[in-house]
Amino acid sequence: MKLHILGTAASEGFPALFCKCAHCQKARSLGGKNIRTRTSAILDDTLKIDFPPDTLHHVLRDNLDLAKIQHLLFTHTHHDHFYPEDLNMRLPGYAHGVQYPLHIYGNDTALAKCSQTLKKQNEHVQLHLLKPFQTYQIGDTEVTPLLADHNPHETCLLFHIKSGPTSLLYGHDTGWFPDETWNWLEKSKVDIALLDCTNGNLPEFRNHMNVNAVTVTKNRLQQCNVLTEQSKVYVTHFSHNIGLLHEDLIKIFQPYDIEVAYDGLIIER
Ligand SMILES: [Zn+2]
Ligand SMILES: [Zn+2]
Ligand SMILES: [Zn+2]
Repeated sequence: MKLHILGTAASEGFPALFCKCAHCQKARSLGGKNIRTRTSAILDDTLKIDFPPDTLHHVLRDNLDLAKIQHLLFTHTHHDHFYPEDLNMRLPGYAHGVQYPLHIYGNDTALAKCSQTLKKQNEHVQLHLLKPFQTYQIGDTEVTPLLADHNPHETCLLFHIKSGPTSLLYGHDTGWFPDETWNWLEKSKVDIALLDCTNGNLPEFRNHMNVNAVTVTKNRLQQCNVLTEQSKVYVTHFSHNIGLLHEDLIKIFQPYDIEVAYDGLIIER
């Protein structure tokens, strides 16, 4: 499995789009891994998770060939994960030499918004509804959407994705996992887990996780043998409001053997 992480910030980006706080100023002057863009990842070069407003920047920064993407999964429709207007750029007239159709998968809200926004024909884009806890064959992977505790107004999803012998838990904007998600996960295996740590050391862990929720989640996954000795846990989706730079996050998570994701990171297993 090759997982290319494109963005690791919360919705405002880091440094945040309009922010003058000391923390954002520091990130601007330090640069490097302190520059975080909006969330997305590409699996095995062909399956993309989420389509944020920073996609063109990701293509230019990491020299991506987005024409290879045949399958696009949406976690939910918050704008930092969901900018379907730019998907029109994959349609005839804007994109040449791409293979149709593009398959888009998501909850009912995501599909309805895609339907409204995309000037599509069925031969160019096909929409597929995802229901939590059902397993789908998507390209060369097996995808099971699980329920998040994030936005009560839509069915926010996290994904368990199996590609060959390797399994990924893609947990963005999850909050503390609901019981149904724990029940499903406790019978699974995970080699790579990517967990939401939007709230850093702030106390809140509903809607988005914080440091404590991440470490308790890792422990529980270990106790249920979902994680093995070889499994790796990464944290991502950081808000500027937590006041932590990349080096601070590394210091916090090192004792727990948890890695801090950064923009452009490629994980291969
Ligand atoms: Zn988000
Ligand atoms: Zn700021
Ligand atoms: Zn969200």
